[in-house]
Amino acid sequence: MATTSCDVAVVGAGLGGCFLALLLSRRGRRVVVIEQGPSVPSAGADFLKPPGLRVLARHGLADLAGRHGLRRDTIRYYHDGDPIQECRFPDGGYLIRPYRDLVELIYASCAMEGVEFWFDASVAGIATDGDQVEELTLTDGRRLRPGVVVGADGARSAVREALGVDQVMTPYERLIMRVATVPLTAGVARLNRLYFSSEGWLAYLYPLNRDEARVFVGLPPEDDRAIFEDGIPVLLDQLKKFVTDSSDAFDTLQPAHWQRIKVSSLRVGAYHRGNAALLGSAAFACHPMTGMGMSYTLRDAEILADAIGDAAGDPVLLDRLLHARYEPRRDAHRQLIDYGDALAATFHDRAAYLAAFRADLHIFGESEVPVLQPA
Ligand SMILES: Cc1cc2nc3c(=O)[nH]c(=O)nc-3n(C[C@H](O)[C@H](O)[C@H](O)COP(=O)(O)OP(=O)(O)OC[C@H]3O[C@@H](n4cnc5c(N)ncnc54)[C@H](O)[C@@H]3O)c2cc1C
Repeated sequence: MATTSCDVAVVGAGLGGCFLALLLSRRGRRVVVIEQGPSVPSAGADFLKPPGLRVLARHGLADLAGRHGLRRDTIRYYHDGDPIQECRFPDGGYLIRPYRDLVELIYASCAMEGVEFWFDASVAGIATDGDQVEELTLTDGRRLRPGVVVGADGARSAVREALGVDQVMTPYERLIMRVATVPLTAGVARLNRLYFSSEGWLAYLYPLNRDEARVFVGLPPEDDRAIFEDGIPVLLDQLKKFVTDSSDAFDTLQPAHWQRIKVSSLRVGAYHRGNAALLGSAAFACHPMTGMGMSYTLRDAEILADAIGDAAGDPVLLDRLLHARYEPRRDAHRQLIDYGDALAATFHDRAAYLAAFRADLHIFGESEVPVLQPA
């Protein structure tokens, strides 16, 4: 089969891969995105926080992203049924928009810039010469010779594997996460509410759009087995112990389809080797309680696009720029992952959770001043 050449091959058409492809194509690079699925991914995050919205705004995408999404400015936290604190987001707050919608709109912008997408195409082999990736072979036999490769291919990244980068993936084993999409009720529409219990449960209820709500339930593995694996008649009894102000949603919860989500943290030893780099969940993963993965990924894509653009095809310069500009992102990510670990370890204990809570990281990301109020 024929071999195709391009400036940059991006493996994975999630938020990170699509956004990077868009930025690079706007800099005049020929970009091919390889995606194993038939389209952009359908499941993922719902919240885009202010740092991520600012990144989109810098590239003319914030209005588009916000047009069909919900804007909110508060999250109220509860412990054993009592409100314990509120986070207020200034300046337009955060955006609720299902992941697929957000990725699709960046994908549509990519299409206008001429980015090539190869769907139903998975990477079968990566040929290297020293620390340079030379060629990608796809499962359908096609070959791609890129100047630069970016692994934006999620937590089980084939690119990371091929580069031989050290990794530590740690599942949050004490907290099984389940999610359901249910009809929206008035109480859930009013406010985003995150409930914790001293028995190690959590429940997060928020509107997804005008008709639907999303409900996350986190619970200890022994309770998950008893409740979700043997039928769920006792689910409501458990939730009623600590979910108070959202009680009008109870009727919608029991018949819902509860999907299990695997949640792990991921720390890796390097974000690049030679002409290949890792982006998004291929590079780091933190507990979703931070709600910041997409914001950091969008900022990372900006930095990566600048480094690749400035290197202008010179592999030695690219390696230097990635060392200088992109590898330092590991420090910011490490801080976020540690923060997610602290939230996951303390939420059952009111005092410990409030002591661990870092509004600066949680609301604003890397270096801004928070507004935190008692409930
Ligand atoms: C439960 C949960 C909730 C979250 N909630 C939030 C939130 O509210 N706000 C927030 O900011 N962040 C949140 N996050 C984090 C956020 O989802 C990630 O930061 C973000 O999705 C990273 O984007 P990505 O492009 O790396 O990954 P992905 O969306 O995982 O994209 C990876 C793509 O690569 C493709 N792929 C994989 N392997 C191959 C291969 N070999 N060949 C070709 N293609 C391949 C996959 O099919 C997929 O399309 C959450 C995470 C979880 C787990």
